[in-house]
Amino acid sequence: MPPAERNDGDTGSTAEPVDAKAHTLCHHCGGFGAAPAPVLAVVGGVGRTATASRACGLCDDVGRLPGIVPPL
Ligand SMILES: [Zn+2]
Repeated sequence: MPPAERNDGDTGSTAEPVDAKAHTLCHHCGGFGAAPAPVLAVVGGVGRTATASRACGLCDDVGRLPGIVPPL
């Protein structure tokens, strides 16, 4: 029997195709669902950089991408 036609038989596996449930953590936000955005803040009269959260445009705030997506 060719390898492509083998199944798990004795194990009783009910494996589904990998791409049906696989997902990839978002490359932009790392799975957090929001991306850090540097903003200007004035603290004590001195301007400095602060970090704010901004909606992730790549994953629509879900934190993961459907299927297997390589980083580009
Ligand atoms: Zn994201």
